[in-house]
Amino acid sequence: MSEAVAGAVAERFTQLYGAEPEGVWAAPGRVNLIGEHTDYNDGFVMPFALPHTAVAAVSRREDGVLRLHSADIDAGVVELRVADLAPESDKNWTAYPSGVVWALREAGHEVTGADIHLASTVPSGAGLSSSAALEVVIALALNDLYALGLRGWQLARLCQRAENVYVGAPVGIMDQTAAACCEAGHALFLDTRDLSQRQIPFDLAAEGMRLLVVDTQVKHSHSEGEYGKRRAGCEKGAALLGVDALRDVPYAELDAALERLGDEEEVRRLVRHVVTEDERVERVVALLESGDTRAIGPVLAEGHASLRDDFRISCPELDLVVDTALASGALGARMTGGGFGGSAIVLTEAADVDAVTKAVEEAFAAAGFTAPRVFEAVPSAGARRIR
Ligand code: ADP
Ligand code: MG
Repeated sequence: MSEAVAGAVAERFTQLYGAEPEGVWAAPGRVNLIGEHTDYNDGFVMPFALPHTAVAAVSRREDGVLRLHSADIDAGVVELRVADLAPESDKNWTAYPSGVVWALREAGHEVTGADIHLASTVPSGAGLSSSAALEVVIALALNDLYALGLRGWQLARLCQRAENVYVGAPVGIMDQTAAACCEAGHALFLDTRDLSQRQIPFDLAAEGMRLLVVDTQVKHSHSEGEYGKRRAGCEKGAALLGVDALRDVPYAELDAALERLGDEEEVRRLVRHVVTEDERVERVVALLESGDTRAIGPVLAEGHASLRDDFRISCPELDLVVDTALASGALGARMTGGGFGGSAIVLTEAADVDAVTKAVEEAFAAAGFTAPRVFEAVPSAGARRIR
């Protein structure tokens, strides 16, 4: 994170509010390496942070006023009173930062107002979690300024509550934890049941590999109803199997569990994805910890097939990225994020980056799809103060 970015955001803050900010903070977007739709089943996920960040310049206020401005939204400064913040009252972008202030106050932390200006390089709605970056950067800034002493995982919980209750989006805990807790050169192995976590070395450049993110440019906005259906189906599966969450179905007992589900065809597919996906996360962790990084490629491809065929949340654009990348020499590829659009990830030898990228771009052109946006994802730092 360059000093220049912090300086520019601080300068704009000063123009808007007439005084320098007390500090500047950054929080990243994320890519999930493996562990998709496991987080609301108490399972495992493995995100890493992107170099793309939401950056916020913030100062405290003591008069109960909250002023919000985003460089990326064509609207002026929005002024609110912290005492008036109420869940699901705001359908605009300001619900994310306001929700964090609301969640902190509701948890008993004395936050008496703030002036906030933010700018983000995390693409919005691309499955890279611009919303969690936004929440976590505000939470960390207020945690520091108001000396709340909260740890990363606690900030993540409060941000999740802000998004679930204040914004009204039923998201899991992965995105906020990734933004708050990731470390450069590592992926974060997170148990979403108890939030225990382990930093797993994931320094691809040192081993001659690259990880590409391919943003299909297909917005995942219509996915909410589908997400709800999958979630309900998973809950039904857990209930039918008599467990608290699908996390509790051991991989070794999957076949027996599927048999018990009888003719519940859809639930069987959902259960099979979640249980095998948890196993894939554990396999990827073991491979990375033993230094066998290239061997995770086929596991990523297996994960994609499971999301496409069992969970049924892929789309033609995501499938085309994965099929084309694998056919042109990539080590592995899969869709990442909620599905129905958004981004795919591609693991490749550094020497093959150009060939794989070109093959995907040509395949999209041939299919008549909007050109994808391809960029390299370097596992980067989590939320931090930058000024
Ligand atoms: P994702 O988290 O996958 O990018 P979401 O729909 O969860 O997609 O979050 C996107 C929303 O977050 C945007 O519609 C907007 O309200 C808010 N947001 C993201 N980035 C910014 C930004 N730079 N400024 C203001 N609001 C933003
Ligand atoms: Mg989001």
